[in-house]
Amino acid sequence: MSSCSVLVVAGTHGNEVNAPWLLQQWQASPDLIDAAGLAVHRVIGNPEALRRCCRYVDRDLNRCFLPEQLKRGASGLEFQRAGELLRLHGADGELPCAVAIDLHSTTAAMGNSLVVYGRRPADLALSALVQGALGLPIYLHEADAQQTGFLVESWPCGLVVEVGPVPQGLLSARVVEQTRLGLETCLRVLDQARQGLVRLPDALVVHRHLGSRDLPKSEHGKPKALVHPDLQGRDWQNIAPNQAMFRAADGTERGEGWVEGEIPVFVNEAAYVEKSIAFSLTRREVWPVEPTWLPALQQLLRAA
Ligand SMILES: [Zn+2]
Repeated sequence: MSSCSVLVVAGTHGNEVNAPWLLQQWQASPDLIDAAGLAVHRVIGNPEALRRCCRYVDRDLNRCFLPEQLKRGASGLEFQRAGELLRLHGADGELPCAVAIDLHSTTAAMGNSLVVYGRRPADLALSALVQGALGLPIYLHEADAQQTGFLVESWPCGLVVEVGPVPQGLLSARVVEQTRLGLETCLRVLDQARQGLVRLPDALVVHRHLGSRDLPKSEHGKPKALVHPDLQGRDWQNIAPNQAMFRAADGTERGEGWVEGEIPVFVNEAAYVEKSIAFSLTRREVWPVEPTWLPALQQLLRAA
């Protein structure tokens, strides 16, 4: 076995079709993506949902990586698939992988970004390397009891590459190319880290998740106001404190006042309608890079 295996996942959500298409093209033409000498395993996260072009069949696969539920054999197609992926490619699986790169797309006007869950040193090292190479913003998701069970958290190191904006179910050459660039960069920096050829930047810029907001709803769950048009498309941007969050049909502004320094992401993301999330709030923070991060990643890459 090679000294490091990397799992590349596409189609964790079956209506995000660009990364699966790229992976299928790569399968057919192995030179399409430079794997930088790493042993790579490619999988379609949720093949049945991809076939149906829907986000999931029974439950969001990217909320099913819950050790307790998996241990007691929770029912449903996605829980089964999560268990299967771990048996096959988990750190102790048949074809074990130390690192998981999970390729997603968004309908929100976020451009391309990285999503990191929590503060594991190896994840922070990898995201700092990719941020250093591509300058992508990082959405650091943590401490939200409403949103748990993400795929990459079940691997020793993992990163989500989020590309957009693109409608669900639509193939786009631009999105495929951005996905390819993000993936190739991840693989290149992993190889360089393995060989001891990298230096982390001095600082990591993160947008730390603070919480989410839903549209104002009636008691029947119907929206009484929509995301304010002046907020639409303002992902990653500083918002003036007097900006309203929502606007009703009669033009009146609704919702709480904007807290200065809070930056929206996933504004009006189509996939989050069912999760009652109109947008999430983050705070931009600059973290000094800790000396423990890179060795944590390198140890995984050597031990795998
Ligand atoms: Zn997704």
